[in-house]
Amino acid sequence: MPESAEEMYARVVGLLGEGGRPPLPPTASWRTFPFEGEMLVRPLEQPVAAEPERHGADPAECWCTADPDRGAIWRDTTWRVAAPPAPTGLPLQLFLTPREHLDVTEMEAGLASSFGVMTSRLVRVMSALPHVGRVHFSQWGDGSTHLHVWFFARTARVRQTMGTFAAVWDDLLPPVPDDVWRADLRTVAAGLAAHGGTALV
Ligand SMILES: [Zn+2]
Repeated sequence: MPESAEEMYARVVGLLGEGGRPPLPPTASWRTFPFEGEMLVRPLEQPVAAEPERHGADPAECWCTADPDRGAIWRDTTWRVAAPPAPTGLPLQLFLTPREHLDVTEMEAGLASSFGVMTSRLVRVMSALPHVGRVHFSQWGDGSTHLHVWFFARTARVRQTMGTFAAVWDDLLPPVPDDVWRADLRTVAAGLAAHGGTALV
C-alpha cells in the first residue's frame, strides 16, 4: 500500500507534533559532519499540490539550446563534461551530461551502456590526479530536466571531506586556487581525450 505525501506528512506530525522537529541524526556526531554547536532540524513542511516544474521542461528553454557547450571541458558525439564557472571548495566538481536533451529515465539501452563506460572513465581520470583521494558521483535532477551527473573529487588524506558530506564541504570550503583548478581541468580533459572526443580546455 503506497503512502501518499499527505499520509507521510500526517504520520510525521503525529509522531513529532505540529511544527515538531526531528532530533539530530547519529551522523551529527561523525567526524565528517560539517557543523557544530547548537543546531535545530527544520520542521517538515506540508506537501505542495504538485511537483514543481523543472528547468528545461520545454527543451527550447534548456541551457542545451541556448548555450550547449557552457562550461564544457571535453565532448564527444554523445557526451559532454562541464565545469562550474569558478572553482569550488573541493579540487574538482564536474558534470557529465548527454548532448541530447533527455533525462535518466529516457536513456535507451545503448546510451545507458555508454553512460556506464563514461562514468567509470571519468572517475578513473579524476582519481589519477595525484592530490585526489576519491571521486564521488551522484544524480539528483530536481532542478533541471537535462540529465547532469555530479562528480566530486576530494583531496587525499583530508578525513573530514570523506563520505556523504563531501558535497556540503564543497560548498563550505574556500575555493581552490584558480591556476590549480584550471590545470586539473586541462589534465582531466586530456585524459578523457586520450580515449576519444575533444579536449576543450
Ligand atoms: Zn537540454
